[in-house]
Amino acid sequence: MHFVKAFTKSPEGPVEETDVLVVGAGPGGSATAFHLAKQGIDVLLVDKATFPREKVCGDGLTPRGVRAIRKMGVDPAEPGFVRIDALRTYGTDGVIIDLPWPRLHDFPDIGLVRTRYDFDNLLVERAVKAGARFRPGVEAKRPVTDGRWVRGAVIGDNGSTTEVRARYVVAADGAASRFAGQVGVHRDETRPLGIAARRYYRTSRPQEPVFESFLNLWDGDGLMPGYGWIFPLGDGLLNVGAGLLNTFKNFKEVSARKVFDVFVRQLPEEWGITEENAAGPLLSGPLPMGMNRRPLSLPGMLLVGDAGGIVNPFNGEGIAYAIESGELAAELIADALERDRPALLQMYPMLLRERYGRYFHVGRNFVRLIGHPAVMRFCVRHGIPRKTLMRFALRFMANLTDGKDGAFEDKVMYGLLSLSSEG
Ligand SMILES: Cc1cc2nc3c(=O)[nH]c(=O)nc-3n(C[C@H](O)[C@H](O)[C@H](O)COP(=O)(O)OP(=O)(O)OC[C@H]3O[C@@H](n4cnc5c(N)ncnc54)[C@H](O)[C@@H]3O)c2cc1C
Repeated sequence: MHFVKAFTKSPEGPVEETDVLVVGAGPGGSATAFHLAKQGIDVLLVDKATFPREKVCGDGLTPRGVRAIRKMGVDPAEPGFVRIDALRTYGTDGVIIDLPWPRLHDFPDIGLVRTRYDFDNLLVERAVKAGARFRPGVEAKRPVTDGRWVRGAVIGDNGSTTEVRARYVVAADGAASRFAGQVGVHRDETRPLGIAARRYYRTSRPQEPVFESFLNLWDGDGLMPGYGWIFPLGDGLLNVGAGLLNTFKNFKEVSARKVFDVFVRQLPEEWGITEENAAGPLLSGPLPMGMNRRPLSLPGMLLVGDAGGIVNPFNGEGIAYAIESGELAAELIADALERDRPALLQMYPMLLRERYGRYFHVGRNFVRLIGHPAVMRFCVRHGIPRKTLMRFALRFMANLTDGKDGAFEDKVMYGLLSLSSEG
């Protein structure tokens, strides 16, 4: 349809042309490339890593994530995925509650776990199968600009560089997003950020199809606003991790590794989470939440996934939002190409706000509140033992709803969100 590829020369080396350059092949970049290529659009996807590659993550997909990968033609029943039927939450005073996923029209009632090593590779393969050109081991070193417009990037591997001229660029370069940072994208300090660390362990403990989530991280004088998790990967392998929000009063003095140590120390022995059972190093990373990057679109360029800070503040879920924002970016770009109207890209932040604005606004207030240890303690102590309330909390915190036309809980959720601003 829009196949534009040509090779000439510039001071940066050879020049290559494409309709869309996607920087970063995590779930956000692969989804963007997939949805563009599906429409016959020429898309070049680059990643500085060679694939498969490791990515620090809990490796968990809620039903929202499962819905997103299904749209990329991924069947959750295919080998490699571990199915998750419920969330098990541990509170204070030994309270434990099991919550199956809600039954909804718009979402499946399963979650999944798969290492990001495999998972991200699978999504890249989907993008390539759809027709995207993928170059692993190639870094986008700097954007190519023309006044305010982003027109491409200088890309390169060891030693050699090429100038890619693109009609549109998508920055899907993850939480650090140095590529987008070079054209003035910055973090909105008023919005929340999480930090988290994870490590793999191999134990003989039988695995159950549940996400284990521990809301009882004690730092000595109170509960920390964060949680520990244990997600089963099959064959005795576990993803064990813990994360913390920057609304915590002592956030600056705490590292993700320290939160992880606090969590692992308090786990009962029967879990077998010991140094001898570790199956790799402890790794950590940031979680940019609630659309905490500005701006989310520049002339000629859109930001998707972590590059745009599009992580759910309630639960730290980012994969589903990276894929969804990638799909949205692809739709807009396809439209802009089709109608030759680059200005359409300016609608992207507004469309994101329409979709997530109110929800993230409530999420931001929520994480501010639970930053106070007394509020966190109150929620955990009085909330977790109440099953009906927790069922609702699960829907709300995982953003799983059929909207205003759904069941009673959906209507309540819709009502609560309507009271909030789009922020
Ligand atoms: C410890 C931890 C646990 C988490 N657990 C979960 C979880 O269980 N479930 C969940 O849904 N979310 C989780 N998240 C969040 C999730 O990992 C991210 O939201 C998700 O990876 C975002 O996808 P992305 O495609 O935007 O970015 P990424 O997955 O980070 O991909 C970015 C890609 O860009 C590439 N890149 C960067 N710069 C360049 C460049 N200049 N040129 C070329 N390539 C470049 C990188 O190599 C990378 O492959 C967790 C995060 C952390 C830190």
